Amino acid sequence: MSYQEVYRRSIDDPQGYWAEQAAELHWFTPWEKVLDDSNAPFYRWFVGGETNLCYNAVDRHALGPKRGQAAIIWESAETGLSRTLTYFELYREVNRLAGAMHNLGLRKGDRVLIYMPMVPEAIIGMLACARLGAIHSVVFGGFSVQSLATRIDDATPTLVLTADAGMRKGNPVPLKEMLDASLELVTTDSVRHVLVLNRNLVDIAMTHGRDLDWHETLAEHNVRYVEPTRVASTDPSYILYTSGTTGKPKGVVRDTGGYMVALHASMSQIYNVGEGDVYWSTSDIGWVVGHSYIVYGPLLKGVPTVVYEGRPDHPDPGVWWRVIEKYGVTCVFTAPTALRALRKFPDKWMHGSDISSLKTLFAAGEPLDEPTYQWASHELGVPVIDHYWQTESGWSMLTNPIGVEHMAVKPGSPTKPAFGHRLEVVDADGNRVPLGEKGFLVDHGPLPPGMLLTIWGDDERYIQSYWSHFKNKLLYMSGDYAIEDKDGYFWMLGRADEVLNVSGHRLGTREIEEVLSGHPAAAEVAVIGVKDELKGEGVLVVAVLKQDIAPITQTRVAEEMRQLVRDKIGAIATPNAIQFVSMLPKTRSGKIMRRVIRAVYQGDNIGDLSTIEDDATLDMVREAVDVLTQEM
Ligand code: AMP
Repeated sequence: MSYQEVYRRSIDDPQGYWAEQAAELHWFTPWEKVLDDSNAPFYRWFVGGETNLCYNAVDRHALGPKRGQAAIIWESAETGLSRTLTYFELYREVNRLAGAMHNLGLRKGDRVLIYMPMVPEAIIGMLACARLGAIHSVVFGGFSVQSLATRIDDATPTLVLTADAGMRKGNPVPLKEMLDASLELVTTDSVRHVLVLNRNLVDIAMTHGRDLDWHETLAEHNVRYVEPTRVASTDPSYILYTSGTTGKPKGVVRDTGGYMVALHASMSQIYNVGEGDVYWSTSDIGWVVGHSYIVYGPLLKGVPTVVYEGRPDHPDPGVWWRVIEKYGVTCVFTAPTALRALRKFPDKWMHGSDISSLKTLFAAGEPLDEPTYQWASHELGVPVIDHYWQTESGWSMLTNPIGVEHMAVKPGSPTKPAFGHRLEVVDADGNRVPLGEKGFLVDHGPLPPGMLLTIWGDDERYIQSYWSHFKNKLLYMSGDYAIEDKDGYFWMLGRADEVLNVSGHRLGTREIEEVLSGHPAAAEVAVIGVKDELKGEGVLVVAVLKQDIAPITQTRVAEEMRQLVRDKIGAIATPNAIQFVSMLPKTRSGKIMRRVIRAVYQGDNIGDLSTIEDDATLDMVREAVDVLTQEM
């Protein structure tokens, strides 16, 4: 079947379409209704059905022919350690942990906060929660004391799983110490126990009665088997806080059944992964991509998932390519920012390894600019697929589902709507704009399975944040600006609040960035709207140049860049200024912090840096601000 046929079916008969996908998984009790949309926009999938995410991701394989096959392949470039767990070994470990957690009093619906580095135990922890029907909330191991405290207060977990430390570029990040500090700040007294995995990286203090050593506790309880709890399809499986820049973070709530079905279907349809494949998502379990494609997606499909602790360029820029060679990785899912980081280094690093096992590379998280796309597809010699995501969506909303039909790639476009997504580009009144014109990307309900259920504890905020942008129209919008072209391909132009208004013309920052990253000397480019008395807003370009290029003068590069913009977009977009810097301030998930760059450039008070709730990022941002202030 073609993309178009499958897509039409998913839209015209969503119930029939998704019921078919769901039938491939195990249900303790079959659903009564595939979709309940009576309380839109609170959509509920597989109502009445009972299942268990851990049973489907682990038991189904461990107790079948995949028993001896690799489930988790852990590689730590930070510690030099590696470990492979078969499906049966994973099953055993998950049961042991779930048993201990159950004995500690954890029950269905209780929350468990996971503040851990990229180690197998973190994933075993997530699966143990799923087994018990407990709701996990993984907090990225780079988040600070304050942001951790905010999340603990919001999710009110009874149990926290942590480790003595994570590692970042060879330096320990003292997670347990940071957790202790945040437990001093919280107002809730929900936390009864903290289970600590001691990796012997740093010294830790244990609070008697509250803190328990991971291995000792498991040995003490020594449970071999815990019955997987039957949970309703519509019960929450996890809460994941979005990396907000201001105010209280939003706890995105995911269901169980719908999520499981959407992920399982996506493994073959979108990633074209099955028997014999080795899947590697280079994300972190702290992000949505990590939840879906380090943990649940590959395990539901029964393929090995590579769990990597480290960075793309440490100890050297060849490390990722060596991981691909070592494990015969067939499918990689990464972020454009990582590709751009690697592109800065000479290609010899890539070609030093045999990466012939690789069949496809996927990217998401931010626009995959054409030059990076061209570089990756040329150097790797495999299809490079951009797909578009949100924390809220749980899986991709725009994609090229190569397992169904490998549509022609238009570099710079994440292709077409994923199955079940009714996406459109609309104007400020919510009316569809003609093809080729810019507008807001919206999703007409019903939202397909896997999309967020609500915001934890705040249904009103769910409505306000996503469904209240248009008068008298119920449309899901999360704030991205886009174009649908005449072939039905979508082009993302950045967040709507990153659209410039230059002399009354709307320009997406992305459009200009795309053009400028085509300059052979450019490694990374950010375009920012700055105050301009004449034009309303002017264009500021901040660029990082490649490392291994001959030293050409910056003035010449800047002049060439100006000319590129005039030629490709028009004089209206000619930059007010082009600044070369050595680094760009970014969020942990790799998104450029335009607000910060703008403030430095305009000499504004960067006071609102304090609203960035991530201290670790804050340090990096401060460093970048210092560098920028000197360089700009
Ligand atoms: P997050 O929830 O942090 O994953 O961020 C989601 C946002 O990242 C989206 O709303 C987009 O603005 C951006 N984004 C993610 N994937 C892509 C992509 N493939 N192309 C363009 N923008 C993307």
